[in-house]
Amino acid sequence: MSKYWNERVRKLEPYVPGEQPRNRKFIKLNTNENPYPPSPNVIEAIRRAAGDSLRLYPDPSCTELREAVAARYGVTVDQVFPGNGSDEALAFAFAAFFATPEDGANAPPALFPDITYSFYPVYARLWNAPFETAPLADDFSINVNDYLRPSGGIILANPNAPTGLALPLEELRRLIEYQKEQGKVMVVDEAYGAFAAGNKTLSAVPLTARYPNLLTVHTLSKSASLAGLRVGFAIGSEELIQGLCRVRDSFNSYTLDRLALAGAAAAIADVNYYDELSRRIIATRERVSVELRGMGFLVIPSSANFIFISLPGKPGAEAFAALRERGILTRHFNTPRISDYLRVSIGTDGEMDRFLEACRALAEGPRVIPSSQSTRHF
Ligand code: PMP
Repeated sequence: MSKYWNERVRKLEPYVPGEQPRNRKFIKLNTNENPYPPSPNVIEAIRRAAGDSLRLYPDPSCTELREAVAARYGVTVDQVFPGNGSDEALAFAFAAFFATPEDGANAPPALFPDITYSFYPVYARLWNAPFETAPLADDFSINVNDYLRPSGGIILANPNAPTGLALPLEELRRLIEYQKEQGKVMVVDEAYGAFAAGNKTLSAVPLTARYPNLLTVHTLSKSASLAGLRVGFAIGSEELIQGLCRVRDSFNSYTLDRLALAGAAAAIADVNYYDELSRRIIATRERVSVELRGMGFLVIPSSANFIFISLPGKPGAEAFAALRERGILTRHFNTPRISDYLRVSIGTDGEMDRFLEACRALAEGPRVIPSSQSTRHF
């Protein structure tokens, strides 16, 4: 705390991202980065952009990038909002659409699950949007009925994080429909959408044509192997996109730089390259999940580029520390209900073989297995 901070800053509870180690070489499975390099077209586009034109501000309306997204997703350019990472698009969505006390003293709270992307409550507090969480079921699934009530807006990650579980599109549509009747916004964070096997049926993007209250949010950090470039985007009705633009243009006219704009447009256009990367990651995920189950791990069925696992009888913090000791970084959330789980990003096959070896040692080591836990299945 500092006396120079105002009250708003004193009250903030900032998000803490996963560790980016600098001094030791780890097998890094902690921040859901893609283990494969970005498309060569991306590097080439960035090289071309890295010239004299850096003297000039970038295109504030990000037209080339938005055209690439529009062509790829079958939407109009005016339905696309570009962001400095999807985190920025999400932050602006909370600011633009979720009710605050200014909307009336009795404005209902925004809703999201108790276990989901831990940035959501941070954004809600930042923008002073009251929120409530709905508990996931014991198997970590989302029960849509929990959300069929008046709210200040709803946000779900699909697939959810850190569980990796996907909600069927038909279930999601019920919520979007309900929110439309209520005159409220539904945000669907599809950061991991590319990794659902047969992902075409999972994405809510096609529904944006029919639902003016639906905003889908996407990132190039995971599926396009560009976490270092900081590019994401939202797709929705023109009125929602304009709402996001109002927030951005009250904050920073140029949220994406010239290199990011060039690289991102090239990435979005290279569908074949990235479809192949996602196929590889899905295949590795399925292989690793089977092997871990064989060793006695609980593995939540994942539709993402990570798995959420626990080893009965081994506290999550201990498993995390043991893997770290062997040079493998995973993510442990020391929060209720999930403190015995680790979230493990899918690396290359070689990296995952090293991870499996370390897991075998863990599974063969000392454990205390309560009888109720050893019979739980997912
Ligand atoms: N949504 C979810 C569910 C995530 O896990 C992440 C990654 N931390 C993001 C959004 C943000 O990704 P980025 O800002 O890199 O686009």
